Amino acid sequence: MQENLLELFIKKLSKLPGLGPRSGRRLALHLIKEKEDILRPLAQILLDVDKSVATCSICGNYDLVQPCHICSSVNRDETTLCLIATVEDLWALERGQTYKGHYHVLGGLLSALDGVRPEHLAIPSLKKRLDEHTYSEIIFALSPSLEGQTTAFYVQDQLKDYPIQVSRLSFGLPMGGELDYLDEGTLTTALNGRVKLEQRQ
Ligand SMILES: [Zn+2]
Repeated sequence: MQENLLELFIKKLSKLPGLGPRSGRRLALHLIKEKEDILRPLAQILLDVDKSVATCSICGNYDLVQPCHICSSVNRDETTLCLIATVEDLWALERGQTYKGHYHVLGGLLSALDGVRPEHLAIPSLKKRLDEHTYSEIIFALSPSLEGQTTAFYVQDQLKDYPIQVSRLSFGLPMGGELDYLDEGTLTTALNGRVKLEQRQ
């Protein structure tokens, strides 16, 4: 029984991003060793996060309030919508403190390799937002990888009937780089130097 619980503990930790069986084992042992200082407070935080953090029903952000603090703020620019692949990218842009508009989290990038197909992306909710609210510009803040470009191409095609200016980040960005890894200055430059895309007919 004890052995199984420990094995399960290590197995779950090993599945966390960036970890494997070896680092999972090391982390498990560290947590057990630091029971008072780390394991117990962390266990409580995990329960609290599970109970309190929700996905924003409008944009897909994670927050303690519903809708999220960005969607419910009256101080944001309500004419601009920024399309990002993940909440990590949204948080990266927020750290840059330059962008003041709304966001829409797609939930990933199209990838045959990872099995991400159009139906996995939050496009119906994006169209619903464009139907219900007048945005003058949508900025594609997607990674300049093949997946990012394929996704941008697909979404732009999906939005061709909407009278909205489509822009993308300027690609001084490292190829294949995730937005989350960029420093805030680079991201701000990419945002300020954004390129308008022609609407395809
Ligand atoms: Zn939101």
